[in-house]
Amino acid sequence: DTTYDIVIVGGGPIGLACGLAAQKAGLRYVILEKGCLVNSLYNYPLNMTFFSTSERLEIGGIPFMSINAKPTRPEALEYYRRVATSKALQVRLFEEVLSIAPDGDLYQVKTPRHIYRGRHVVIATGFYDIPNLMNVPGEDLPKVRHYYKDPHFYAMQKVIVVGAHNSAVDAALETWRKGADVTMVVRESGIGDRVKYWVRPDIENRIKEGSIKAYFHSVIKAIHPDTVDISTPEGEVTVDNDYVIAMTGYQPNFAFLEKAGITLSADSKRYPAYNPDTMETNMPRIYLAGVVCGGMDTHVWFIENSREHAEKIVEHITLK
Ligand code: FAD
Repeated sequence: DTTYDIVIVGGGPIGLACGLAAQKAGLRYVILEKGCLVNSLYNYPLNMTFFSTSERLEIGGIPFMSINAKPTRPEALEYYRRVATSKALQVRLFEEVLSIAPDGDLYQVKTPRHIYRGRHVVIATGFYDIPNLMNVPGEDLPKVRHYYKDPHFYAMQKVIVVGAHNSAVDAALETWRKGADVTMVVRESGIGDRVKYWVRPDIENRIKEGSIKAYFHSVIKAIHPDTVDISTPEGEVTVDNDYVIAMTGYQPNFAFLEKAGITLSADSKRYPAYNPDTMETNMPRIYLAGVVCGGMDTHVWFIENSREHAEKIVEHITLK
């Protein structure tokens, strides 16, 4: 039988938290994940350190031990995997949800392998699958990356890092420390105000001393195989370049939400419609959980303030 009380779409930290809450309430649930377990975290920079302390990344009240106060990506992978295996969470990996459609008082949740039927559906699909594009000529060249993994690859190369938030700052510092020649191109007037407080002085001092070059109030105009054109307040400059690491952010899959019938705000933020007390969307019995809730404001929700969505949703379902 493939009929569930809750079908959870997305096996990130918050999808797993929803599974734990459903399990605790004795509900029949399944988690469908298009990639590996906690796929977004798996695809983060290899040695990234979280801005949250480990206890704030805990789900289901299960302790998360880390060596330092702030855990690294490998520690988080260990944690979420052990939570999933020790609690025997019902997760189907490498099974992407293609559509969610009403079927009487159930929903049909379609993957390439099965059709699952859920009385309730939780969408916890995050925002890490679709990069925000710069929409400039040459962006499709293979030397342009919207995901950054590891600095060694860029040793002795001329690298442009676009953006000034955490991902950009981490990429600029790591690649510079491994011998890349780094130039930052930043639309705003300075380094972003949400940059990890212990990282900020490092990047600001590297820029001040000229080790890392930075163009502020500047944008890339065009990317060529060996150069990049940058529009700066002093006019257009062309710099030699081997790789562009575009850390311009990511966005939720709005087409997927709209196809499921969820209303998005008409402004550029594209906030999905949901009741913040219950997390239920305008589609009855379809809920949102985790960072997907924020629309284009992808920094508003993170693990520590969205893990409570899981309890809210399961409470609303069990009270009915
Ligand atoms: P995700 O972790 O993105 O999980 C969504 C899952 O859904 C993914 O595994 C994805 O593969 C899957 N999925 C998507 N579409 C489908 C589909 N159609 N079918 C099936 N599965 C699908 N937050 C913090 O709290 N602290 C931090 O220190 C922190 N550091 C961060 C660093 C980086 C580099 C980034 C990018 C984010 C960071 N965040 C941090 C934010 C963090 O990404 C989120 O808080 C966290 O991943 C949110 O969990 P989630 O479960 O909502 O989304």
